[in-house]
Amino acid sequence: MKNRNPRTFEVKSFGCQMNVYDGERMAELLEAEGLSAAAEGAEADLVVLNTCHIREKAAEKVYSEIGRVLGRGGGAQPMIAVAGCVAQAEGAEIPRRAPGVDIVVGPQAYHNLPALIRQAKAGGRAVDTDMPAASKFGALPARRRLAPSAFLTVQEGCDKFCTYCVVPYTRGAEVSRPWAAVLDEAKALIDGGAREIILLGQNVNAWSGEDEKGRARGLGGLVRALDALPGLTRIRYTTSHPNDMTEPLIRAHAEVPKLMPYLHLPVQSGSDRILKAMNRSHTTDSYLRIIERVRAVRPDIAVSGDFIVGFPGEREADFEATLRIVEAVNYAQAFSFKYSPRPGTPAAEMDEQVPPEMMDDRLQRLQALLRAQQLAFNQAQVGRRTEVLLERPGRKAGQLIGKSPWLQSVHLETQAAIGDLVEVEILSAGPNSLAGAASMRTAA
Ligand code: SF4
Repeated sequence: MKNRNPRTFEVKSFGCQMNVYDGERMAELLEAEGLSAAAEGAEADLVVLNTCHIREKAAEKVYSEIGRVLGRGGGAQPMIAVAGCVAQAEGAEIPRRAPGVDIVVGPQAYHNLPALIRQAKAGGRAVDTDMPAASKFGALPARRRLAPSAFLTVQEGCDKFCTYCVVPYTRGAEVSRPWAAVLDEAKALIDGGAREIILLGQNVNAWSGEDEKGRARGLGGLVRALDALPGLTRIRYTTSHPNDMTEPLIRAHAEVPKLMPYLHLPVQSGSDRILKAMNRSHTTDSYLRIIERVRAVRPDIAVSGDFIVGFPGEREADFEATLRIVEAVNYAQAFSFKYSPRPGTPAAEMDEQVPPEMMDDRLQRLQALLRAQQLAFNQAQVGRRTEVLLERPGRKAGQLIGKSPWLQSVHLETQAAIGDLVEVEILSAGPNSLAGAASMRTAA
């Protein structure tokens, strides 16, 4: 039997930070409708699967997750909503293949979730994958309590059409949220306890808008406006495209004290031939010049990147060019993946797909180099003092975990509280985190 009158909910988000943000907004929306989050370990009456299409075999994984939720023991079957990028890509196919699904809602339509739940309560199936021009954000409830570090989506969608990527199809064209809406949400986040705001967008540095005086502004201007908000101590932004790295944004790294010294700037490959096939619209040279410009104004900046190995047509010489760009940049952190075809993208139809064992070998060689760079970057912090924003409890009693300005996780034992900014002496470093000792509290 199906639960047609849900009182509790669970939102399970997969994939990127933008999905985490969307998951938080859906939870706020459901709470505003009178539902409450299911207690830890309890089975929810409504399960929202907020899916990611970037994962390999994304749709198959969603169907097996649906089967797992439907197969759980106990009383009535929960109402199931599939949201996110797989919902957008598959649409009405989902309830056809998985009749236990009640609601399908795309990433630009989730503000309609309450109406879709009403349809499902009446026994119907509700599918909404519209991409309305009007922004969903205006239809969402006000922000509520928050962790010390909060996401804020300022830009959605993408017009770049990299040949391997589904985002332009699942998230639609590039849209920037208005200046005033972003600043209002930032103030609400700060009032709710956020000390750090991470601006999000598929191409966050393509954000553009007009300020309160009608002047055209880019992300650098928005960062400066956030810098002026009392109560906020840190600003970050992700993910950026090399072609949208403007001079005002680069200058902000030199001049805005709250903007953290961290830049996630995906390059994907070190071969211009492969970058062209990927339709990346930048070259290795233009990428390296951006890194140079950023480091000239902010020498301590931590650079992070994304890499795809085994893109169709990638030969050993192309891959070696990727190793060379990694050596030239010297990354503090990076994400690297084997290419896997996404249905409907041009790259999925390309000749010269690279054999899996060759991809494995290249990924291992690339990751060994990236790991060594990350470890060296972390070890360079040992013996230094740095500010850490405390974000969550650690595994041991009395231990808290926070982030350094360079986005490293730092573990320490401290009397300070979550949300405090503390000065920490770094005692040791591993590949993924640092250990430190709090020396004094610098902000309450
Ligand atoms: S820039 Fe390329 S990889 Fe990034 S979201 Fe757009 S199409 Fe996808």
